[in-house]
Amino acid sequence: MEQAQSIRYPVPNAILRLALPSPLRRLFDYRAPAGVLRSSLQPGMRLRVPFGRREMIGVLVEVCDSSEVPADKLKPALELLDPQSPLPPALFKLCLWTAQYYQHSLGDTLSWALPVLLRQGEPAQMRQERFWSISPEAKLDDPRLSRAPRQRDALKTIAQHPHGVSHQLLSKLQLNKDSLDLLLEKGLVQVEVRRHAPTPRHANWLAQPELPLNPEQRAAADSIRAGFGSFNAFLLAGVTGSGKTEVYLQLIRETLEAGKQALVLIPEINLGPQTLARFEQRFNARIALLHSAVNDRERLDAWLAARDGEADIIIGTRSALFTPMQNPGLIIIDEEHDASYKQQEGLRYHARDLAVVRAHQENIPVVLGSATPSLESLHNAQIGRYALLQLPHRAGAAKQPKFLRLDVKSRPLDSGISAPLQQAIGQTLAAGQQVLVFLNRRGFAPTLLCHDCGWLSECPRCDARMTVHQRSRELRCHHCGHSERQPSNCPKCNNVDLRPVGAGTERAEERLEILFPDFPVLRVDRDSTSRKDAMDNLFQQVQKGEPCILVGTQMLAKGHHFPRVTLVAILDADGGLFSADFRASERMAQLIVQVAGRAGRAEEPGKVIIQSHLADHPLLVQLTEQGYFAFAEQALSERRSAGLPPFCHLALLRAEAHKPGQAEGFLDDACSEAELQVGELGLTGIELLGPVPAPMERRAGRYRAQLLLQANARAPLHRLLHSLMPALEAMPCGRPVRWSLDVDPIDLF
Ligand code: ADP
Ligand code: ZN
Ligand code: ZN
Repeated sequence: MEQAQSIRYPVPNAILRLALPSPLRRLFDYRAPAGVLRSSLQPGMRLRVPFGRREMIGVLVEVCDSSEVPADKLKPALELLDPQSPLPPALFKLCLWTAQYYQHSLGDTLSWALPVLLRQGEPAQMRQERFWSISPEAKLDDPRLSRAPRQRDALKTIAQHPHGVSHQLLSKLQLNKDSLDLLLEKGLVQVEVRRHAPTPRHANWLAQPELPLNPEQRAAADSIRAGFGSFNAFLLAGVTGSGKTEVYLQLIRETLEAGKQALVLIPEINLGPQTLARFEQRFNARIALLHSAVNDRERLDAWLAARDGEADIIIGTRSALFTPMQNPGLIIIDEEHDASYKQQEGLRYHARDLAVVRAHQENIPVVLGSATPSLESLHNAQIGRYALLQLPHRAGAAKQPKFLRLDVKSRPLDSGISAPLQQAIGQTLAAGQQVLVFLNRRGFAPTLLCHDCGWLSECPRCDARMTVHQRSRELRCHHCGHSERQPSNCPKCNNVDLRPVGAGTERAEERLEILFPDFPVLRVDRDSTSRKDAMDNLFQQVQKGEPCILVGTQMLAKGHHFPRVTLVAILDADGGLFSADFRASERMAQLIVQVAGRAGRAEEPGKVIIQSHLADHPLLVQLTEQGYFAFAEQALSERRSAGLPPFCHLALLRAEAHKPGQAEGFLDDACSEAELQVGELGLTGIELLGPVPAPMERRAGRYRAQLLLQANARAPLHRLLHSLMPALEAMPCGRPVRWSLDVDPIDLF
């Protein structure tokens, strides 16, 4: 707790203020390690320190002369880990900003931002390797090798590499380790431990010719180029297939030609080989990849290469935003509306928003691209914060698909599929074309119902129903992971008439297989593609172009091109129109447009059939008849009149506890404290809504509640949060409660 008049004790030696990987929003003071001079210390350096009974690695924030901790209680740090700060000042500044804005502890923020190995104390240097080379005096026909053909072969191979060959490469060539050791013993070869020499920058960046831009693409590229060299934010709104990626590629080439680096963020789901291959095929560039599939060592090497200017293009998912760059020139956020840019645990940052902050701090341009921009970004474009660039037409010959709303109000649905839709699917297949069936719900059915007593398959740990997974004969909760065997009798009344209600992808797949036995039905969801190569095999089959039906969740909606798909069926658009979540309709519209964008990319035009019980809903009509931007206009004006984001600013305080009432009790106290502080600080335009139980009150056995802070302007909200957080940390009723703050939440559940 901060005291009004804290006593500060002067101490003879410098005090190091460190950020430690702890949720506590404060710094920790230590004395310098023995033998370390004050003049050798810089912010950003890592130190190993004692913490309770453990040791931790902290990051130096500042060096000062006094501490609130009395000198005899101050412990010395154990070890200085870096000769200089591994974090360039620009990145350190970004982390400071992030911690402040999201009201998160700086130590924990640094933990999220830094590669795992740096957090664990690994030297901030490229991997060292063993390099083998032939000794200067060695002869290939050394008589000692006359009866050792393996050693002779090994020596010959090594001799081919005058600058040495890495041990890793030798093992790949299956050279026998014993032969190498014997050669070493005889003094014929030598080993040196060093890092790989960095690949030099290429003189000619293009490995493949560029496409001549069409006039719309050229206009967009020209505007962005005019903004090179200083901070400028662009929203590149281009329909699927309009050639946004081609524009990115050409801007990146210009960035490289100017001697600078480009950072490209993509959503996790787009990490298909298709996206990366386009970058790799186009450029003779050193590309650093940073995403969840790279291991810790590769991640650190990529991070260091970017920092030291030895990578030209950095491509990664959300956390790659925190990659340092020696000479940054351009940031691109592809599919900027994608929810995966927002981290939903720990440090709840939004990589798209932080990208704009970073571009501003580094004084470089940032391009946000999407076929379906978020309402936030569109609003920012409307108020002039971003320059809006539009690509309204597809680049190649392909036409925009046609939409058809299919009212299913009084039609019987057969496993989610209406009769007219069945007919359309049959016709498409008969014409030798492919069909994509989209349903954002995996499993067989969302719930199991006893037809006799009304029992429902409720999760014992959550206020939610368990999904029926028919193949594995399981009931599974998609919220907490709980699973149990599917009962054959009702657990309540023992009746055997248990019926799955509603349809998921598994059920749609089963039904389509029966309806269209002559055609393959391929399912794409997290259950079907858990094996690594399953997805690749499946896409290869689709690329062959034979008629087939693809059934899947949003995994199908993004990143992939299916040129032979001419019919897209959206089985259920109602979730987005009924939901209590004010962002549901925006998400639904984005999904529909993205899924529709998979169709008819080549010569054949596409058709999109949307099944809905609300086929005349104004938002759905707007979307299908006038397109995403008309929809967005309408949705934004609804947000404006309801006073919802982006026309207000939100912060959500979530709490959960094992006992009912504990979470709400904590939030009640938090709310009173907040009211008090609003008064003391003289803040206006802030509303406290709640506390209320979370929409799903119990999840994974915990009771959850939330308090929403809503404000007209950002500044007063942040002043409140800044003084409120330390007070909440000190509240005793918070002890048994797990709580967190989400600034600019995108999910109120
Ligand atoms: P987006 O990123 O907007 O979905 P892409 O850049 O992937 O669009 O382009 C869609 C297709 O159009 C690709 O096959 C691409 O090669 C092609 N394309 C893009 N720009 C042009 C152009 N200027 N001329 C011809 N074809 C183009
Ligand atoms: Zn029953
Ligand atoms: Zn559950």
